[in-house]
Amino acid sequence: MRSSYRALDAFIYQRHTGRVLSRREFEEDIMYRVRSEISRYRLIEPSDTVLLAVSGGKDSFVLVDTIARIHDTSRLLAVTIIEGIESLGRTVEVEKIGGILKSYGIDYLVYSFKEYYGLSLDEIMERVLRLGVRESACTYCGVLRRRLLNSIAREHGVDKVATAHNLDDEAQTIVMNLLRGDTTRLPRLHPRAPILSKQFIPRIKPLRKIYEYETTAYAYMKKYGFQHSRCPYVDLKPSLRSYVRRLLYSLESVHPGFSLRLLENCDKLLEDRLWSLEKLPELPSCGICGEPTSYGREVCKVCELLIKIGVIERK
Ligand code: SF4
Repeated sequence: MRSSYRALDAFIYQRHTGRVLSRREFEEDIMYRVRSEISRYRLIEPSDTVLLAVSGGKDSFVLVDTIARIHDTSRLLAVTIIEGIESLGRTVEVEKIGGILKSYGIDYLVYSFKEYYGLSLDEIMERVLRLGVRESACTYCGVLRRRLLNSIAREHGVDKVATAHNLDDEAQTIVMNLLRGDTTRLPRLHPRAPILSKQFIPRIKPLRKIYEYETTAYAYMKKYGFQHSRCPYVDLKPSLRSYVRRLLYSLESVHPGFSLRLLENCDKLLEDRLWSLEKLPELPSCGICGEPTSYGREVCKVCELLIKIGVIERK
């Protein structure tokens, strides 16, 4: 791509490439990289129906704006899951992203933890604290959100679920898995990782090579107003992710492009290990809810978490 510094239309200094790009060049660059990731790993086939998981934040706006220009919008559907964190007040974000989706002619669904599990995340955390359960809000939030998203995707018969994870998210997940010594989870991060249960709808991450500073700049450039509200549970118990995020920011500041190289190298290394996943049998089913669970587990993580706060009982 042509790259030149012209003081009048310079929009962004792209740290990891050392280039200064105008608005048009930056938009072309983002579209090119999202398209490349999709075609390289065949993330979306022309006949696929895709469920876009959108929170209403900047990343989900970028997901909608880019995918709607790449794929037939009549084959797209979007969903927001409201976890139920009162101080985050998601109404404005839901209305904003809902307006964008409407302008693209994409149907929009809104679900909530309260409706599906009977409790909002605030109510779950009230029980966690009262009962002294040693699990973080992010564990409940992430595990319950993933299950609900998969159920919605199945219910609506879509072929893929696209999430708005960016490069920073992916790099953090790689480092966290390495620090935990969780090498079995690492191969599952690869875009070509096989699906281990027929009950799982394949998840794709078209923004996985786009830095967070770029999704922020893209949303700003497109005048998408988003809130900078901070989840109250982040400060309650800083997660490993928050430490890893700081570590990667500092490495990135002295070695621009560090996270991108980490992800690309990890993809290359994992390519040789994917065959080991392909040989694995179908995941077993949870003895309580019947959903897939990990090998060697009788009860899935969702049921285990709900048992700990007294929502369901162990059989
Ligand atoms: Fe959920 Fe808040 Fe954790 Fe994000 S930071 S996963 S919204 S609990």
